[in-house]
Amino acid sequence: MQYKLKIYNTLSNKIEEFIPINANCVGMYVCGPTVYDRAHIGNARPAVVFDVLYRLLQYLYNNVKYVRNITDVDDKIYKAAKSKNISISELTEKTTKMYHGDTEALNVLPVTIEPKATEHINDIIEFIQRIIDNGSGYISNNHVYFDISTFNNYCKLSNKTLEDLINGARIEVSQNKRHPGDFVLWKPIDTEFPIGWDSPWGKGRPGWHIECSTMSYKYLGSKFDIHGGGCDLIFPHHENEIAQSYAANKQLMANYWIHNGHVMINCTKMSKSLGNFCTVREILNKFNGETIRLALLMTHYRSPLNFCSDLLQQAKNILDKWYKVLLDKEIQDTKQVDTDILNSLLDDLNTPQAIYNISSMIKNNSNLNILVNTCRRFLGILTKNPNNWFHCSNINEDWVLEQISLRNIAKKNKDYKEADRIRSLLLEKCIELEDTPSGTQWKRK
Ligand SMILES: [Zn+2]
Repeated sequence: MQYKLKIYNTLSNKIEEFIPINANCVGMYVCGPTVYDRAHIGNARPAVVFDVLYRLLQYLYNNVKYVRNITDVDDKIYKAAKSKNISISELTEKTTKMYHGDTEALNVLPVTIEPKATEHINDIIEFIQRIIDNGSGYISNNHVYFDISTFNNYCKLSNKTLEDLINGARIEVSQNKRHPGDFVLWKPIDTEFPIGWDSPWGKGRPGWHIECSTMSYKYLGSKFDIHGGGCDLIFPHHENEIAQSYAANKQLMANYWIHNGHVMINCTKMSKSLGNFCTVREILNKFNGETIRLALLMTHYRSPLNFCSDLLQQAKNILDKWYKVLLDKEIQDTKQVDTDILNSLLDDLNTPQAIYNISSMIKNNSNLNILVNTCRRFLGILTKNPNNWFHCSNINEDWVLEQISLRNIAKKNKDYKEADRIRSLLLEKCIELEDTPSGTQWKRK
């Protein structure tokens, strides 16, 4: 291997050289979304960060298997479906489609396998049974719990004491548990959540953590290369995954644990109750996907990211500058890559350094073919036709809304010819419309 990838491993707290278990089949698992609502910018960051890592791994190795799950059974899903008066499957299917649409707009490549929790209930039941048989699970009041006292390395990933973690996190208090840190593997149906599957422990549903242990085992085996996710998942989710997988398989699950930093909005923690919460779709009404993607990559993946409109405007200015240089230039496809950009990414995915490299190369009029192809391949940027870029990215939001209301009037008057004309006009300006029961939604292509 000509190139060496160095990456920060949360498990060892240091930057390590990445050495795969099998260089002919590299395995990566990343915790995916819980599909009850539109993706917010905190969901977009891991999708983009691990997409860059996936692209890099695909360059370095022949075969990379990237598994990212869909959590489609959860109390939040049940509540959201109930409040919308639709079935759970209708909600999860719709939300999954919206997640795909939003991540595609950010130039995120499809993953190799995207398993859904509800399609793996039998696997989950077998996995829990193995944990019980190996002495790490116990049944109490129709619940199955994991006994954390049976796993010596619990909390090794977060590098904290169990007491610290329990005090800092919301841990479910229950008389059913032997230890306050024990967590649920299977819970029974109740009035709050009356939907469930038959199991040896009664009708119920799996806890959240167990689906990742089960599905990563099914698709990547008992020990694989990389496990990723946002840093907010380190405790309890990833600690619990490690404990469950060790109890079932007697293996330490994954060699490299990679986490992206928090996302803040206007310098405060993102939260629905504080009102500083933004969905990817909302941002796509103001900036196109490539701009959002660059804004996410301008901060190193491990640092906290402060997402605000200044950052987006800065990203747009950078892309405008780059596309301006590309105007009227013919870019040929080439497999050749720029080594400065590649080396920056090999150095713990240093995307800010890569962006700096691109800026100076554009300034110095370097080989644009290699530069653009490298950007497209690894960073998923500069993918557009430069003429379209300028034609489309300066469209005013008010004008779009005006056209949409004109189209609605035309539809009301059954003037479908006019409605189609407006749709085509918007499409020409890279604006895509989607008619939904709650009105016409739009996004920049
Ligand atoms: Zn997970």
